Amino acid sequence: MHHGVAPTGKLREACGVCGGFADDQPLAFMTCFALYALQHRGQESAGITAGPGEGRKMWTKRGLGLVSEVFPDTADLKGIVCKMAIGHVRYPYDADGRDFENSQPLKLRYRHGELAIAHNGHLLNARELREELECQGAIFQTDTDSELLAHMIARQGSESLEEALAEVVPRLKGAFAFVLTDGHKVIGLRDGNGFRPLSLASFTDGGYFVASETCAFDTIGATYIRDIEPGEMVILDEEGVHSRQAVESPSTNLCIFEYIYFARPDSNLQGRNVHLVRRELGRRLAREHPVEADIVSGVPDSSIAAASGFAEEAGLPYEMGLVKNRYIGRTFIKPTQKMREEGVDLKLNAVKKIVEGKRVVLVDDSIVRGTTSLKLIRIMKRAGATEVHLRISSPPVTGSCYYGIDTPDKQDLIAHKRSPAEISEMISADSIGFLSLDQVKGAVDLPEDVFCTACFSGDYPVEP
Ligand code: SF4
Repeated sequence: MHHGVAPTGKLREACGVCGGFADDQPLAFMTCFALYALQHRGQESAGITAGPGEGRKMWTKRGLGLVSEVFPDTADLKGIVCKMAIGHVRYPYDADGRDFENSQPLKLRYRHGELAIAHNGHLLNARELREELECQGAIFQTDTDSELLAHMIARQGSESLEEALAEVVPRLKGAFAFVLTDGHKVIGLRDGNGFRPLSLASFTDGGYFVASETCAFDTIGATYIRDIEPGEMVILDEEGVHSRQAVESPSTNLCIFEYIYFARPDSNLQGRNVHLVRRELGRRLAREHPVEADIVSGVPDSSIAAASGFAEEAGLPYEMGLVKNRYIGRTFIKPTQKMREEGVDLKLNAVKKIVEGKRVVLVDDSIVRGTTSLKLIRIMKRAGATEVHLRISSPPVTGSCYYGIDTPDKQDLIAHKRSPAEISEMISADSIGFLSLDQVKGAVDLPEDVFCTACFSGDYPVEP
């Protein structure tokens, strides 16, 4: 089920998760900081479960909004000294995504005590699993994959969470990363196809932390150890960290969009720094689609690195042709028809003195529907650019994602059944150039082909 893209016209990431185990630390507070670092992965809801505290109950707070809205006063969190905490930020994958009920972590009670789950991704066989459980009498309160997993764990019967997961995880099909706690340990696990990222870090004075992206570790002073392997469960408890493979014959298909657009530039994925990969994408783009121009500009913020690489390679000045209003956030204010026709935009504005009379190379990381590109080109031309050559640091998106990334239906993708020349004309660009998939892979520069590239290539690693 797909419900379009964010007002920015980009594909949307589908959540960030984190969690850790350490002796008597303000772990809820640290988890909150980690969530701030993961905020770009989801802005609809945020939540933390920490504990157990007095009476051995776990503490949970979750709600709709940004981390700063759900946790306005972090002084409260500092007081929670505990051994375990997990956290979550969410983008809604489905139409009901804005429900408080779907915010996470999901905490519940089962016969072995309490259980809290934070989840990122999408289970492809959720419906079948759910129907099976409903036939056995299970009653669901939300439509999240977390609740489904909770039911499966509860019914599995093992006393140990680890054993229960080892039985349950092989039955899950799809793209996911889970972080769970039962008040005794924290477990991080990654799907057997390695779609969504999850990494492990340690604290200098003892304890471990897992997070969707490594930028979260820097924020809380943890030291990155390694990426968690596809199908691997890492168990963080009193004894430190140990690992267990839950899936037979795992494979790695990391979503290539993590490098192109989703991940934060200061994160590293599979040992590659995201910012450096993006700069290399830009360099290769300049070689693959050169053009006569005066300046190069990037669409802020995610395309700045690629634009600087392009400029460097092309020997052209990099200029800040577009400025982003950072304070609009998630506000969705529709301009009047007249304002729209005049090409005004609340989020982005062209710097007239820079683009006036210039032939501009405008670098963006991706095109989904094409509406944003059309708007940006209008803004540039209105500000006096004589030519706008659009350069995209990824291939045309021609297929939907079935692995937890919100993409429009195929027919709403501008590159669906359209050639680059047709797209260029539709968005009134003077020319367009997409970076080829081989060049994208080359820029990441890993020894093996370990990516999901399905929305570009149509080559779906797991049958949708
Ligand atoms: Fe990422 Fe595209 Fe694969 Fe989805 S289909 S996981 S967006 S590369």
